[in-house]
Amino acid sequence: MNSGTGKIVAINGNMISVEFTGNVRQNEVGYAKLGDMRLKSEVIRVRGNVADLQVFEDTRGLKIDDKVEFTHELLAVELGPGLLTSIFDGLQNPLPELAEKSGFFLKRGIYFDGLPRSVKWDYTPVAKVGDEVTGGTTLGTTPEGIFTHQIKVPFLMRDNYTVEWTIEPGEYTVDEVIAKVKDSAGNVHKITMVQVWPVKVSNKMYQERLAPTDPLITGQRIIDTFFPVNKGGTYCIPGPFGAGKTVLQHITSRHAAIDIVIIAACGERAGEVVEILREFPHLTDPRTGKALIERTVIICNTSSMPVAAREASVYTAVSIGEYYRSMGLDVLLLADSTSRWAQALREMSGRLEEIPGEEAFPAYLESRIAEFYERAGRVRNYDGSIGSLTIGGTVSPAGGNFNEPVTQSTLKVVKAFHGLSRERSDARRFPAIDPLDSWSKAEGAISSQFVSKARSVLQRGYEISQMMTVVGREGISTEEFTLYQKSEILDRVYLQQNAFHPVDASCSAERQKEVFIVMIKFLDKAFDFENKDEARDQLLNFQEKFLRWNTQKFQSKEYKKSLDEFEAQLN
Ligand code: ADP
Ligand code: MG
Repeated sequence: MNSGTGKIVAINGNMISVEFTGNVRQNEVGYAKLGDMRLKSEVIRVRGNVADLQVFEDTRGLKIDDKVEFTHELLAVELGPGLLTSIFDGLQNPLPELAEKSGFFLKRGIYFDGLPRSVKWDYTPVAKVGDEVTGGTTLGTTPEGIFTHQIKVPFLMRDNYTVEWTIEPGEYTVDEVIAKVKDSAGNVHKITMVQVWPVKVSNKMYQERLAPTDPLITGQRIIDTFFPVNKGGTYCIPGPFGAGKTVLQHITSRHAAIDIVIIAACGERAGEVVEILREFPHLTDPRTGKALIERTVIICNTSSMPVAAREASVYTAVSIGEYYRSMGLDVLLLADSTSRWAQALREMSGRLEEIPGEEAFPAYLESRIAEFYERAGRVRNYDGSIGSLTIGGTVSPAGGNFNEPVTQSTLKVVKAFHGLSRERSDARRFPAIDPLDSWSKAEGAISSQFVSKARSVLQRGYEISQMMTVVGREGISTEEFTLYQKSEILDRVYLQQNAFHPVDASCSAERQKEVFIVMIKFLDKAFDFENKDEARDQLLNFQEKFLRWNTQKFQSKEYKKSLDEFEAQLN
């Protein structure tokens, strides 16, 4: 049945309408022929015998009546060993290869395998002939960087199978057949180390969802103590342009206590993506001392790519995340910025002439955002192991106004909100997460009772500072002034953190617990100052000590000495 062809009847930006014969399904891939080039496209709507496709390339040169071939295959990613250390575009083309082949300006119509075909993997079979297996059962393993990569029966094979044959231990490429399994009807299936996964279909790679319970330690005090994230949870970082969203995600990608990080970058500045490509491969993992890229997958949108590829990239990223989760690993997906992705949705929706919702976003914006974040989670895998996929996305609303559809739709689904404030970033109080506006529904490593106490000090401190702007320092009592100073110290030494200091850049959970308890003691201490000058001088003294302590190596001699001195002063 070769029914998969059609001809272009309309072109609108990167959307084409194609009259076809036979069957065409939603989300299947088609190729528009342009001379000897084939431009990859995806079916986004089918009406009668006309399909609308978004083309993942510039459509310049396409004409009415040009041919389109349909593949009957859904838009998919390749999953298997070799994903780690990769830098892909939104369609899983490895960017370094792409750049090499097509020069600095990426050419159209060039596609690569997601996984390298030439690399040999040291494969060890686990399943034996006669074993009963099904989608998700581990057939063998191969080392990949610091992890053991499990080669499983493809998740989409949902029948019960018997292992007929397995290959000897040895070195194989991802294309070689490593096992044969027989289904209940007696058909034999060949299995390689690659499996193909349709990115937009919410099939599942796990057995059961579990409630996220463990805190994900990011190393940022304001997050872990005040607005924690769980492994398998979700969070968002809305903020105005330049408030520090990207920097915060980069710090997190380096320091979070997590196995694998997936970075989905839709750059807002032209040079940002190039910067990632240049810098990332040279960074050292502060936790393992090895190259950070060995436990990272980067998915980048270059500025030369049309919006459709941007729309696809978050799905590519989340599918790869789900795959590593299926091996019992903890994965963190960082998407920056989801507003760019939403804009791609808006653009395509406009071309489809759908009835627009708020701010011209499609009516399904909210459900798309929800579906994306719902792919996060802590799960029990088919082999019984437990893995997690945490998703953190930035939102960059125009003018920093959170009252817009992308921010609001995101806030409805995520479990934590780290709102960046222009006021804080202008004052260079980094990370510029607003301590009064932000929230989290996740349980952190630190007792919520202490946290509420600290938050109420911040709240009171803020109120007093507002009062001072009206009535001046003279208009408030020494007691109020003392409380204000305390809240400032809590802010400076605990909420703020120096991303560029080798020690302060990341703060472990143990350290946070220790420092925070001392901080609470300090906030609780009843000082009886004569006047405001005395209050300021004495408290500055405390602040200085606290600050010094923050940059001393955890549990070092100096650290312990400072802690003792500090506590003595509090008693
Ligand atoms: P956004 O992604 O929100 O537009 P960026 O993350 O690019 O903003 O940050 C803009 C600038 O703010 C950075 O180039 C840097 O100078 C400063 N900055 C942001 N976060 C920090 C931080 N944690 N520590 C120090 N400087 C920061
Ligand atoms: Mg940014």
